[in-house]
Amino acid sequence: MSPSTMARKPIPPVMQADVVIKSKRRCPLCVFLDGNESERPGQIAHLNGDHSDNRFENLVWLCLVHHDKFDSTTSQTKNYTQVEVKTYRDMLYAKYSESEYSKEDIKLVQKYLLNYSQMFAYLFHEYSELAFKIDHNVMDILADIRDFWHTSDLRSFNPAIREIQDHIANNVTGILGIYEINMYDLVGNWIKFDNQRFSHDILTRKREEARGFVDAIAGYYKQLERIAVK
Ligand SMILES: [Zn+2]
Repeated sequence: MSPSTMARKPIPPVMQADVVIKSKRRCPLCVFLDGNESERPGQIAHLNGDHSDNRFENLVWLCLVHHDKFDSTTSQTKNYTQVEVKTYRDMLYAKYSESEYSKEDIKLVQKYLLNYSQMFAYLFHEYSELAFKIDHNVMDILADIRDFWHTSDLRSFNPAIREIQDHIANNVTGILGIYEINMYDLVGNWIKFDNQRFSHDILTRKREEARGFVDAIAGYYKQLERIAVK
């Protein structure tokens, strides 16, 4: 791997929150090896050792002692392996996700995902084109979320679920911010970037912004999906 890909990239706050909440700041090695289930000061570790790989899959909350041991694993010492740590992490997540939600909570999440399934599918498929053009029907759905989300029937009473949904709504609002009115035109069914009058650099910046918002939404979407299948 080249030095630049190994460079330390900060873990996005959204992802940090996901790890901290899922683990409840419990270290999986403390819980399953030492039977110690108390909250401990810790840090987020990268399972595969690549500090630029900030996928949720690759992250784990470890107490300082276990983090140190895990990071210092060399061929001489038989410290914890990736597989071991990953297994205990998944066991921890499974343990804490049981019966956290009522049947009504789960039903509502299912309904929410179904109701917005087309919008999510569109965002996840079209994210690279999003800044250039967007179907105006989809934009209407996004605008509806931006303007009316706080009074929506699909907004959960469960604070944990509501928080995830609110994050999605905030990122939706972020996406809409991309479409500055003077830079876009309605062309048929599309809201399209005016690339005659505005530079490619502007569009590139907007593409990056769009990607950031959609990435965040995808992370929250996955969390809701995990709740919906319980
Ligand atoms: Zn520990």
